[in-house]
Amino acid sequence: MLDFSSLLLAAALSGICLSVTMFAIWFTAPKAGFVLTVACGILVLVAHVILFWRYSKDPDPLLCQIVLALLSLGFLIICVSAMQYLGVPGYRRAVLPALAAMAVCAVVTFLGLDGVGFIVTYATVTALLSAIGAIFWINGSHDRRILLVVSFLSGTCAVSFGLCGMVLLGKGQWVLATAPDNWAERLNTVVAVACMTGLGALTLSLHHLQAQIELKAETMTDPLTGLMNRRGLMSLYGERRFGPFMAIAMFDLDHFKRTNDVYGHPVGDQVLCRFAAVIKKYARTGVDAFRLGGEEFAVVMSRVTEERAYDIASKIGVAFGTEVVPTPLGPLRSTVSGGIGFGEADGRSLDDVLAEADTALYAAKRTGRNCVISRSRMGKADPVEPALRSA
Ligand code: GH3
Ligand code: MG
Ligand code: MG
Repeated sequence: MLDFSSLLLAAALSGICLSVTMFAIWFTAPKAGFVLTVACGILVLVAHVILFWRYSKDPDPLLCQIVLALLSLGFLIICVSAMQYLGVPGYRRAVLPALAAMAVCAVVTFLGLDGVGFIVTYATVTALLSAIGAIFWINGSHDRRILLVVSFLSGTCAVSFGLCGMVLLGKGQWVLATAPDNWAERLNTVVAVACMTGLGALTLSLHHLQAQIELKAETMTDPLTGLMNRRGLMSLYGERRFGPFMAIAMFDLDHFKRTNDVYGHPVGDQVLCRFAAVIKKYARTGVDAFRLGGEEFAVVMSRVTEERAYDIASKIGVAFGTEVVPTPLGPLRSTVSGGIGFGEADGRSLDDVLAEADTALYAAKRTGRNCVISRSRMGKADPVEPALRSA
């Protein structure tokens, strides 16, 4: 038979070690606020375990209220940390019901129905743990295996607390006047220690994963325009075969060196951002935009016919032609040239499609700029209003 006090001591010790580790991690990476929240939640649970042990030795009604409140509060904080980590808005949805349940628990315990207080608290904890499992499962965009483990551990812990409540409910123990002690309580102490240690360790790997994801996103993002860069293009499409309904439009701003020379580099940067904003408007499902470098951009289009791809690229060109950047030397209008490369039935590599787009772009420059050219429209200028051409 396992000694109940030793189990509680083990739970408290493991919790203290976990939260100290997390505080240390947060100290070195303060941006990871959720690690701090988890550490605080675990500390509250450690306080609960220590006071619960005290309560099992010397039952006192006030202590009972504190013990139960700390249990709900600890798991509430951990639930909030999960929302914080996953960026789920509306903490109130977890906080308000949990606070209401804690208030109910305080009232019934005050009235002497401490057994009911335990049942309400176990139900609250079960709900919070189930919510943690569910939000990780629904909102997590990580590796499913990690999410499965998080959901499994919180689900197991939820069942274990649920069992404790059901045993009290089944026995009709509305008044206890002491700490509940039954098979479910003992099982729950073991399960809770194991699951919470596992969840704590997973918090560390989730933190590591998040840092990795942020770093990867940073290396694939162009800091000036916020578009993905060439590395992002390679990462998303480097291994892809381009089928008949895929196309890449390459764009190169016209006479951009002159823009820099006449208006200055900062204005040039503004023009680049304007063009990025224009192509972002067209970046929706199936259309991804990239800044390849300098004043060269690419738009990858999926599930489009050749006509549609040409239509999108032309619209981007026309829309950019209407953009006006105010400068100290007066309003500045710029133009862009584009070339389109297409996939084919047998599949083409990214390099092949880019090479075709580049050739078409070169043709667009030779044709006089401010136009989009594709293989079916080689040599034909885009029907852009003459007024825009003179910009
Ligand atoms: P074309 O119409 O033939 O494309 O001529 P162009 O002047 O646009 O082409 P060129 O390749 O000669 O000049 C590109 C210029 O883009 C040169 C470079 O200084 C400028 N450039 C590259 N990156 C940036 C940037 O991040 N900001 C700014 N402002 N300018 C940049
Ligand atoms: Mg260029
Ligand atoms: Mg250029």
